[in-house]
Amino acid sequence: MIDTHCHLASADYDADRGEVLQRAWAAGLSHIVVIGESPVAAAAALELAASDPRLSATAGIHPHDAKDWSPGSAGWLARSLADPRVVAAGEMGLDYHYDHSPREAQHAAFRAQLALAAQAARPVIIHAREADDDVAAILRSDARTPVVLHSFSSGPALLRAGLDLGHYLSFSGMVTFRNWALDDAVRAVPLERMLLETDGPYLAPVPHRGKRNEPAFMKHTAERIAAVRGIDAAELIAATSKNARTLFGTRLNEAR
Ligand SMILES: [Zn+2]
Repeated sequence: MIDTHCHLASADYDADRGEVLQRAWAAGLSHIVVIGESPVAAAAALELAASDPRLSATAGIHPHDAKDWSPGSAGWLARSLADPRVVAAGEMGLDYHYDHSPREAQHAAFRAQLALAAQAARPVIIHAREADDDVAAILRSDARTPVVLHSFSSGPALLRAGLDLGHYLSFSGMVTFRNWALDDAVRAVPLERMLLETDGPYLAPVPHRGKRNEPAFMKHTAERIAAVRGIDAAELIAATSKNARTLFGTRLNEAR
């Protein structure tokens, strides 16, 4: 299994990160993409990636911090994406639930990062919350690089845009929640466009809901999705791991 989205550099793991990783490998994880959603988080993610070939990093500016986007950010992101251990840009996108940054600033930072990712030939990890139509419009306006709609929980318009553009959808532990109502989306995504993630430390799947999430818990998510689609969990895991290697590149193969 490949966890395509874990905030493993977060302070939530500082006390026992080594044990979290041991449990991950023991549970059958082969690779973890460590999200760097700010310059500080990206530096920490890169340090982790440098310490273990089974870890890769990302670099980007979260929509919450879009107000901090500046010309200097563009230089920072371009330099970060040139590092082979940084396998994707993000997470980036739009969040109208919290609106921590003005929406115009969110749009500008998102568009600029999408363009830089395309220039660097890196895939992009997208955060979309209560902003489906605007995320879909921006993705339709610049489809030069593949994107992941991460922890997918959006409506049919963004689902349609993602599938039309040949992008990827990643599902988290939310699929195991009692109030999850998007099994239709789980069925609508072609198997070759689906990814798995934890989004740890957030969104722990049942039966760990409410606790800190970690990669070793991802099997519950895989089992739930396989059941919805009526296939074996092993088949789902093989397909989603292949997709992750295709999307994020050779670094995910080498350490297998
Ligand atoms: Zn995240």
